[in-house]
Amino acid sequence: MKVGVPRERAPGERRVAVVPEAVGRLVKSGLAIAVEREAGMGAFFDDEAYRAAGAELVDADQALGAECVLKVRKPSPEEAQGLQEGGVLIATLQPLSNPDLIRALCAKRTTGFSMDAIPRVTRAQPMDSLSSQSNIAGYKAVLLAANSLPRFFPMLTTAAGTVTPARVLVLGAGVAGLQAIATARRLGAVVEAFDTRPVVKEQVESLGGRFLAIDLGEAGGEGAGGYAKELSDEAHRKEQELVAAHVKDADAVITTALVPGRRAPILVTADMVRSMKRGSVIVDLAAEMGGNCELTEPGRAVSKDGITIHGELDLPSTVAVHASQLYSRNVSSFLAHITKDGELKLDFEDEITKGTCITHEGKIVHGPTRAAMESA
Ligand code: NAD
Repeated sequence: MKVGVPRERAPGERRVAVVPEAVGRLVKSGLAIAVEREAGMGAFFDDEAYRAAGAELVDADQALGAECVLKVRKPSPEEAQGLQEGGVLIATLQPLSNPDLIRALCAKRTTGFSMDAIPRVTRAQPMDSLSSQSNIAGYKAVLLAANSLPRFFPMLTTAAGTVTPARVLVLGAGVAGLQAIATARRLGAVVEAFDTRPVVKEQVESLGGRFLAIDLGEAGGEGAGGYAKELSDEAHRKEQELVAAHVKDADAVITTALVPGRRAPILVTADMVRSMKRGSVIVDLAAEMGGNCELTEPGRAVSKDGITIHGELDLPSTVAVHASQLYSRNVSSFLAHITKDGELKLDFEDEITKGTCITHEGKIVHGPTRAAMESA
């Protein structure tokens, strides 16, 4: 099977779906790899490295028109048009919020796999790009906060006086939140964190953070797949009270709270932003899903009442080398899962293949996507 790797064309996107290191392994497994010229440039992988690893260098049409296409981001409408009729696409489709794309893939009879739908089961861990990319976002969020904050992160004792450490509040302690806690601690900050899933308390503490505990009763805890549930109004109000009490003393707030298929919950209201010290920083990693802060503007950083609020959407892309390397391992592992001796071998009884497949033979085969499109 010929596998195409087009250059990512979304504005600001620097990652590439497959790095040269992975090409050799894919070729050895019997696949032919066609990489668009300059596809790796944004992440500093040049064409020569791909050629040396055994890839064929091709133009955009050939890469997009391959039997199987590997991408980081979802295809644009034009890119979807360029896909081969009845081919395979593996990318981050975000199927619950992209109905037009899903219809376009059905029209092309594309077998569309979404990397963000890979079930969070142990067997699928090497394929889990949500984790690999969230991990990077959590790390970079703290660096962004440290860079914007007009204060030190660590405590310093100097001849000119003592500097107290920055106070960092992390809301949502999943993959991104835990990495944010670890990174902020490494920089010397004092870290507090909250999550509606009480099971993460131990993980927060093992990283040196203080877990803020409140009893959300039935509303807290884990839902399907280990993800958070949407809170009841009463539980949401309780949480906002807790957040308000801690936000006002924080120098940096990193928010990462998400509930699958829903708008991100508002945890930091405009009033809470106003209660913060001038010069403080909020980095809202939930910006793409509407943001955890009421004043976040997705896609950019803004200053409100002396507080910098970061809503950038491309943090993993700013660490393009490692983000590409890790995504490449994720997508290669998934490709290995659905191929044998260089040919496609789909087993829809398998939980990983079934859970990740969104469209097949002109139909939506992914239950949650079908439900989201019907309810829309
Ligand atoms: P996510 O990105 O969906 O959400 C981020 C965090 O926000 C989660 O921890 C969630 O509990 C929290 N959250 C949601 N609503 C909130 C609110 N109102 N207030 C505060 N926090 C809120 O989550 P994720 O990082 O993708 O991780 C989801 C789950 O998957 C976790 O249990 C994680 O441990 C698990 N996981 C499992 C595997 C695996 O077994 N292969 C891999 C990665 C993650």
